[in-house]
Amino acid sequence: MEQTLSIIKPDAVANQTIGKIIERFESNHLRIAAMKKIQLSQTQAQDFYAIHKERPFFNDLVQFMISGPVVVMVLEGDNAVARNRDLMGATNPKEAEKGTIRADFAQSIEANAIHGSDSLENAKNEIAFFFKAEEIL
Ligand code: ATP
Ligand code: MG
Repeated sequence: MEQTLSIIKPDAVANQTIGKIIERFESNHLRIAAMKKIQLSQTQAQDFYAIHKERPFFNDLVQFMISGPVVVMVLEGDNAVARNRDLMGATNPKEAEKGTIRADFAQSIEANAIHGSDSLENAKNEIAFFFKAEEIL
């Protein structure tokens, strides 16, 4: 069993597609082990995406991530990190495979509906960033 971190980003929360996105996880055997709706602070968004701080889109990405509430979740299942990335689709929704979450719910390469951890090591760090052990059930 693996755990991975998923974030429903401000665009998808504003569009009221939280339920439709969660349905994709549950119907693909990814269990919701933890979940909360939060408003990220600027510092939290900068820290979370610190790996991208030298990229030209960093400031816009941070502004987008704090533009409204997000839903953070721990997903659990066999091969959860890779399977979640498959369900998400490519970063740019125009390149995302048909039937993926980003193809169906994302607007643009920036407002792309969801985040998912890209490795088991990053998943562990990202889960600890948002959740205490006793909040993961
Ligand atoms: P995420 O980390 O959010 O799951 P990802 O792993 O598919 O997405 P990354 O390369 O880690 O993609 O980029 C992080 C986020 O930065 C993207 O999801 C997107 O919101 C934004 N981003 C990436 N590339 C660009 C770009 N060229 N222009 C604008 N925003 C971008
Ligand atoms: Mg990424």
